[in-house]
Amino acid sequence: MEVKTSLLDNMIGVGDMVLIEPLSEDTFIENLKKRFDHNEIYTYIGSVVISMNPYKSLPIYTAEKVEEYRNRNFYELSPHVYALADEAYRSLREQDKDQCILITGESGAGKTEASKFVMSYVAAVCGKGQEVNKVKEQLLQSNPVLEAFGNAKTVRNDNSSRFGKYMDIEFDFKGDPLGGVISNYLLEKSRVVKQPRGERNFHIFYQLLSGASDDTLKKLKLDRDFSKYNYLSLDSATVNGLDDAASFRTVRNAMQIVGFMEDEVQSILELVAAVLKLGNIEFKPESRCNGYDESRLLGIEQSVLERAFSFRTVEAKMEKMSTTLNVAQAYYARDALAKNLYSRLFSWLVNRINESIKAQTKSRKKVMGVLDIYGFEIFEDNSFEQFIINYCNEKLQQIFIELTLREEQEEYVREGIEWTNIEYFNNAIICDLIENNKNGILAMLDEECLRPGTVTDETFLDKLNTVCAEHQHFESRQSKNSKFLTDHSLPHNCFRIQHYAGKVLYRVEGFVDKNNDLLYRDLSQAMYKANHSLIKILFPEGNPAKVNLKRPPTAGFQFKASVGTLMKNLLSKNPNYIRCIKPNDKKAAHIFTDSLVCHQVRYLGLMENVRVRRAGYAFRQAYEPCLERYKMLCKQTWPHWKGPLFFLEEKRRQCLEDLATLIQKIYRGWKSRTHFLLLKKSQVVV
Ligand code: ATP
Ligand code: MG
Repeated sequence: MEVKTSLLDNMIGVGDMVLIEPLSEDTFIENLKKRFDHNEIYTYIGSVVISMNPYKSLPIYTAEKVEEYRNRNFYELSPHVYALADEAYRSLREQDKDQCILITGESGAGKTEASKFVMSYVAAVCGKGQEVNKVKEQLLQSNPVLEAFGNAKTVRNDNSSRFGKYMDIEFDFKGDPLGGVISNYLLEKSRVVKQPRGERNFHIFYQLLSGASDDTLKKLKLDRDFSKYNYLSLDSATVNGLDDAASFRTVRNAMQIVGFMEDEVQSILELVAAVLKLGNIEFKPESRCNGYDESRLLGIEQSVLERAFSFRTVEAKMEKMSTTLNVAQAYYARDALAKNLYSRLFSWLVNRINESIKAQTKSRKKVMGVLDIYGFEIFEDNSFEQFIINYCNEKLQQIFIELTLREEQEEYVREGIEWTNIEYFNNAIICDLIENNKNGILAMLDEECLRPGTVTDETFLDKLNTVCAEHQHFESRQSKNSKFLTDHSLPHNCFRIQHYAGKVLYRVEGFVDKNNDLLYRDLSQAMYKANHSLIKILFPEGNPAKVNLKRPPTAGFQFKASVGTLMKNLLSKNPNYIRCIKPNDKKAAHIFTDSLVCHQVRYLGLMENVRVRRAGYAFRQAYEPCLERYKMLCKQTWPHWKGPLFFLEEKRRQCLEDLATLIQKIYRGWKSRTHFLLLKKSQVVV
């Protein structure tokens, strides 16, 4: 019997990488592959979950599975994202520790799916009752709404998140859900007006055209035919496996559950339609423009919109100066308006959802945060958006390194436990290259954007090259500028960064403009004049009574600040990691490309992660809960143990030490330290 079990074990590989013998990159990858071939997509490194994207639906997310994992110890069953969710939820409820679930991996690796499995698991096991069920439903249904407006098909992923999302789920002291708060990070709004080859605009446009009733489309003056709209790419308008019409119904239904009123939904769809129609406005020299039809939809008088696309007013020293826009500038203004309209609508949606799902109580809450951002990406053409997305991924990798590699090792040293240092690459210098307040790339971009005089993408690039490249010769290889790569093959309008996950070539075109993120005042004022309640709300700066000449903060500055706040928030919670891996570049099931997986295993630092876990003590528990759990083992603590309050400090310590000694006898290898009892993973298993 035993032999059979171990053979079977061997066939599907080992559930926890810590137990692999011998450990090498090859055996690590081989183990992942073996498991992947047997549909075992989850593998542990201690408490970290590695998740391989199977690119096919597996029967492992059923209600029965939820029951199976409910209230079970983490290592008891085979690895599963549910085990992690259960562990996090139980620590939150029983030990009153706020949790966060950090999901990382490149674009298409399965982060968004994992975040939904975590949420649905927690929803399934927490609380019951009509009120609670309503809260759960609303939290879950916020997903399809945000995905429709914030996700799109890219060459890497048919449902790629084009915004970052962090959701705090809030619970009461019993662990019943009370509500939630969603934060969103910089939507890739350039997609609204232009999509790279093989990609689509945001899902909602296709969903609306495919799924809305004839009547709705007629009211919105829309045509079902995608090809009628300039803003919709045609080469990949339909995506295999995506049913836009059915998704539209799902989204409508979700909006209703979340709590949107019918007239709000109508307004939202009007804005989506207006964006599509803005894209069809054409400008010709010396003649009136065509296609102002949508102004009726926006509730703006045609002449007002026409004027806004024809002139630009600049106020300087109390004087107003008006300049006429040429055709190219008019197109630029049109696109800027469409992007702003859409991204503001998106932020409004997030706020509106938050309004619905917010907890109805002010009492103290326990919190579980789930982070699902856009994954690291390298395209043929990388711009400001990729730069921001990849920066965000660097920051997350930094948290992982700080907490699982650096602090863990330092703790052993601090505690006087014998330790051989394990080397790893710390990406802090790449973060510094980007975000350093004085001469980081974002700071230099801001400086350029705010500088008077002629500012172009080229002047920005010159500055980068001067500061980052020229200092390299004098600095060590561990300095931040060593990650700013210079070589002769670099095209003239580009710079290259050695990110933790690979080299990325960024084209500077549009950096200054996208960072400035300014909308001509004529346009915001025209929008504010709209006889449409939602549009008015979206353009408050267009209110002539509230003219504010102060420049709004740049996109880069805002992003850096919000990521900074996010990091602080995450660091204040107990982290749980899901590291997603993409098995192939074809979005296909059953294909495991060794080189691709190996690359991810390397840059995610997974080998180092296993080494630290193996050398260290995988199981740890603070004294107090350990005493609670094992008090019956020791005559000093049982049967007369009355809980911590009745013990003097000294006496309590004595008890704990007696207990530790006893446990040490039972399991050889226990070590007692000031705070923790530690046990090597292999000893738990024996
Ligand atoms: P991005 O950074 O682009 O947003 P992502 O990491 O969020 O990428 P997902 O959208 O979660 O990637 O996954 C991409 C696709 O892979 C999904 O649409 C789904 O088809 C498939 N997939 C991912 N995880 C699973 C899973 N556990 N089971 C089945 N299919 C999955
Ligand atoms: Mg995603």
